[in-house]
Amino acid sequence: MSIFSPRRFQQKFLPVTREDETLTEKTLTAFEALVKGVLFSCRMCGNCILQETAYICPMTCPKGLRNGLCGGASPEQCEVDSTRPCTWYKIYERAEKMDRLDSLLEINAPIDGKRAGKEQWSEVVRVWREEDNSPKFIEFITDKEKFQKDWDHIFYKIRQPDWWQGDAEYHPPKTEEPVSFLEASLQTGEFVTTAEIAPPLGASGNIIRKKGNMLREYVTAANFTDNASASARMNSLASSKISMDTGIEPVMQLQARDRSRVVIESDAMGAVGLGIHNILCLSGDHQFFGPDPMAQPNQFDMDAIQMLWMLRRMRDEQKYLDGRYIKNPPMFFLGAAGSPFGAPPKYEAIRAEKKINAGAQFMQTQPIFDYEGFLEWLEALDKRNLLDKIYLLPGVIPLRSARAAHFMADEVPGVSIPNEIVKRMDNAGDKQGQEEVGVQIALEIIEKLKNTPGINGMHIMAVHWEKIVPRLVEESGIPKPNHELRKQFELQGNLVTEV
Ligand code: SF4
Repeated sequence: MSIFSPRRFQQKFLPVTREDETLTEKTLTAFEALVKGVLFSCRMCGNCILQETAYICPMTCPKGLRNGLCGGASPEQCEVDSTRPCTWYKIYERAEKMDRLDSLLEINAPIDGKRAGKEQWSEVVRVWREEDNSPKFIEFITDKEKFQKDWDHIFYKIRQPDWWQGDAEYHPPKTEEPVSFLEASLQTGEFVTTAEIAPPLGASGNIIRKKGNMLREYVTAANFTDNASASARMNSLASSKISMDTGIEPVMQLQARDRSRVVIESDAMGAVGLGIHNILCLSGDHQFFGPDPMAQPNQFDMDAIQMLWMLRRMRDEQKYLDGRYIKNPPMFFLGAAGSPFGAPPKYEAIRAEKKINAGAQFMQTQPIFDYEGFLEWLEALDKRNLLDKIYLLPGVIPLRSARAAHFMADEVPGVSIPNEIVKRMDNAGDKQGQEEVGVQIALEIIEKLKNTPGINGMHIMAVHWEKIVPRLVEESGIPKPNHELRKQFELQGNLVTEV
């Protein structure tokens, strides 16, 4: 309970208009705000999901995430505000104590702005009256199980509007026909390599062309980040298009921060229109991590899971979030980020399952240095029968210096580097020696990943050191991209289902 909560990150939601509100509704709104404000730090989002979140308000998360924790959380501190614990950690812990961890699998809707700032209690009463199977108070004593089931049903109806209908089920893609070279390569069962290229800081695409030419023979696809760390660069859409022109298939990263649901739909559709089919959905780093002056906070209209849910339905059900029919649906190959070291594996596995259920087909993870820790995460995914439903590409970062090793170990959330690796880097001598040891460590990790069941490839993040990627691929003996297959997709060009 949050009577003494010192922080309220989300703005207080106010109704867009009070035009149609009756005096009774206004009074109820004021009363609900007071009671839930004291008990839960309620911001009156008007789309309450407290039943799903173990009675801890998710809007006390600085990003307002409604479907689970972000990659940088730890039990001690929120990644944005180190003076308080992560809201979602508290939710997982309490849900576990209540034996309701699996209820966190349901995919919660983004906020309906027209309901924001308004009371919901009259809505509960209305649905309670309308439903045939409404819980009866006497059943709380005589048949508690039935009461709980009917109670949950009432609140499910309220929190899952018709335009969303989120659930906790796996929704496989409607077709297995590959839509990209990356998807086709993964389907062959070969070990697939992707690499990350940071979009340029300026307006020239030459650096992408140069790096694309360097990597083309070695990687199946290249990821383009989307204003990572809330810091402006060339956008991932333009970078992806330039990359395609050099013959290297892009994975366009698309983050929710700074984008409304309309812009996400529009950008993703535009990407397919340009022939970009691999889209990696991310919630995005908080504005707090960007350079000053910091942008206005609270610019998360959706989270990564909601994006996946929405984009999958655009492709497979041919409809926009608002229900309009899409004649030529966008053929996405949808990806998500995995975080093996963020929270305990049992919690991270729930988040991974939610992403997979929502629509993720491939998952690229944070860098692996702690192989044993990575296996624990993998085991947690396996326990949930997820490994057959997702292509897994664990992250590999070749460390370039001892300083980088210390920085990643101490400062980067969601990364775990064993002391032994940091020590090896410390003892590696001069700059050249450190680079060499960094490469050897990366090769050792790749060797282990190559032989790990459930793994489909790797994602190399050698940002600003892309020239090391060919050496890692050559020396580790992993297969190079299948050029015959690539040609087929180059010829195929922009793929849409023409209706
Ligand atoms: S989920 Fe929304 S309505 Fe419910 S307590 Fe939190 S801010 Fe209030």
